[in-house]
Order: sequence, then C-alpha cells, then structure tokens
Amino acid sequence: MFIPKLIQVTEEAKDDALTKEYLDRCKFINPKVKVVYVENSKPELPAHLDAAGRYHHMKETLLICRRSSSFIETFESPGHIVERMSTMVKSVFNCSSSCEFCYLGKTALRQQHQKLYSNIDVIEQEMLNEIPIHIGLNTILSAYAFYNESPLLKIPPGFKKFADEFRNKLSRMGKNKISQEDVSKYINDNLAEILLKLDVPLAQQQYFNIKKQLPSYFAENKKFDVSFNIGEYTDIGAIDHISGHLNFFAGLVEKHKNIKINFMSKSPNLTSLLKAQCDNRVLVTIGFNPQSVIDKYEHGTYSLKERIAAAKQVQKKGDINLKLEIEPIIFIPDYEKEYIKLIRKLLKELDVNKISKITMGGIRLAADYRGIIPQYFPDTDLLDMHMENQMLVMIGTDTRLKNVLIFI
Ligand code: SF4
Repeated sequence: MFIPKLIQVTEEAKDDALTKEYLDRCKFINPKVKVVYVENSKPELPAHLDAAGRYHHMKETLLICRRSSSFIETFESPGHIVERMSTMVKSVFNCSSSCEFCYLGKTALRQQHQKLYSNIDVIEQEMLNEIPIHIGLNTILSAYAFYNESPLLKIPPGFKKFADEFRNKLSRMGKNKISQEDVSKYINDNLAEILLKLDVPLAQQQYFNIKKQLPSYFAENKKFDVSFNIGEYTDIGAIDHISGHLNFFAGLVEKHKNIKINFMSKSPNLTSLLKAQCDNRVLVTIGFNPQSVIDKYEHGTYSLKERIAAAKQVQKKGDINLKLEIEPIIFIPDYEKEYIKLIRKLLKELDVNKISKITMGGIRLAADYRGIIPQYFPDTDLLDMHMENQMLVMIGTDTRLKNVLIFI
C-alpha cells in the first residue's frame, strides 16, 4: 500500500475541503508524515538529488494542488499503434508504484510531481459537456477521413492539441453547459477554420461537400458513446485509499445514466466500485504478470494473488465489465512456460464467461527512456540483449516495440 513520506500542499489548495480529507487519510496511515506548504504546483525538487534520487523522491511524495486546466484531455496516442480516440479524465497525475518499464518514469526528469487535485468537483459538468463534444470531435474526424478518402487508424498528428483547444473553448472547465446543438452549430459556423487547423487544404467545392455532409456525420457519430478513461498516467486504484476518487466517479456513474468510465489498475482497492450500482457502464482492466515478473520489475504493486482476488470480486459483483491485460510480456527465462502457466491459472480461477476481453502485449519502451532505466534501477536486467533480441522478433514496425494481440 502506498504510504507517502512527504506531502506538499499549495497555498491555493490548502483550505479546500478535499485537501483536508486527503491529509486526514494520509495521517491515519502514517501519523509521522511530513506536511509542507508550497507556493505553487511546481515546487523545486531538492537540488542535491541525481536522476535516481529525483525519481524515488517523487514516488514518496504527494503534491496536493488545484488543477488550472481542463481535467479532460484527448489522449495523444503516441507510436505506430491502431486505436480509437480516447478521452482521459485526470483527477490524479503520476503513479506511486515503480514499474521499471513504465514511461511515467520520464516525468521525474521534467520535475513533474505526483499530484492529487483538490478541485475535482468541476469534473461532473466537464464530463457532461464532453458527451456532445465527443460527438463533435468524432464528426470532425469523419470529415477528415472522408476528405482523405482513407479510414483513420488513430487520431491524426496535431489532433490532440486541436481537440483540447476545441473542448476548452466550448466547455471552459465546465463553466459553460454544452448541448449537442451548441457543438453542431459551432462546427458548422467554424468548419473552414477547423479544417485549416488540421492542415486539410480544401478547394471550395470540397469544403461545401463536407459542410453538406456534416449533419449525417453528426447523426452517425451519436451512436458512439464516450467512455472516460480515469486511469491514464496513473494507477487510480493504487492511491484510492488516500484520494477516494473511485467513490467519486462511481457516484457520477450512478447519478448520470449516460456516463461510462474505464481504467486499468494493478491494485485490489476497488471497494467503492463494488458498493456502487455500475450498470455495466464501468470497465475495469486488471493488469497481470507472473509473480516472478511482479517481484522483479513491478515494484510497489500488488501480488498476483491479490489481483486475481480483485478480478473475482468484480465478476461476483456482476454489473462491472472486466478486462484482463497481460502486459508487458517480459522475456524472463522460461517465459513461454511462465506466461502459459499464468493464462491457465487465470482461466481456471476466473469465470471465462464474465471476461469481456483479454489483451496481451509485448514490452513497450520509448527510445529516450531506455538509457534512463538503469539510472533509476542500477541492478536491472530489463534491457539485457537477450530480451531485446527476443523483442525484435515481435515488433514489426512499431517504434515503441509494442505488439498487441486480442484473442477474445
Ligand atoms: S502501476 Fe501502471 S502506471 Fe503505475 S508505475 Fe506501474 S505501469 Fe506505471
């Protein structure tokens, strides 16, 4: 269980009701926790620390602050992978666990902290606004795809920046209340500017063709609901004993029948979800690996046994969708045997009829992170040539060395 050693609280957040709740929970689990007040949400890290020192300091420290930009963002979708536009809600940023392969390790280099936001109350209206905004963004993607006469395998370059600006302009962190009509009218009135921002060079005829088709694109995209990813750039379950955010999101799912959420976790702390009426609008993905991999590379996470117990509880609850993610596969000695043993164990202990999907993926390491891993974990063998060679067999053209199989 994550127990912070140091908590920093910004001046702005210090009197917020949620800040008090976070502090009370932290003091309950660690009465000796040190609490300091800082001027802003970018406090300096201690100057004497090297890269490893900064990384481990960040993992033991929690910064409680207010978020000043939208809690909702479009996921950037980096790398050569195929995926739909994904929409994140960032009520927490960064993770208390220390998986050696996790790209979040890079954030320590940029002096990014592990943040818990104290003004999450605005998230409710932001999420409600996002439902029509999501249809609008998909409508723009349809226009883009039809113009290029090619289906989109992922969001095009520059689309994340565009989508975040589009959302901020309409929603303004939930200060406005947005309807489908507002979004449809905005796109119709600003189509030329929108397409220019996306680098779509239009002749007059094409512009009018797309404009004519907008109502049909909009109507078609209404069929695709948004599911909010509340667990990107964090393991939201691993900090829930301090944040209580799963309870907050479960409350929104119960209150609004059009809200769907999803997240991935390696933690069994799912109690609030287990008490809520989730109505099959929650997708929980539990990450699995053989225990030997967890012990060696997924520091600070929960055991395989605890993760299986969590998956069983989700299945018993009956109105939460469960996905199993076996990722990243690491080429430990006997990895074929170990992973087959893991899959057999999962299929034996869990009810296969209550698993919505299983995914498996190879290890994914950004090129600029590989040199940093041994600095944080001097004894690691994650990058051994043996493993690299094995990976190269799998990778195909993906620059991040990722290969995902979906077999259910
Ligand atoms: S639990 Fe997930 S988010 Fe946290 S360090 Fe591990 S891989 Fe990264």
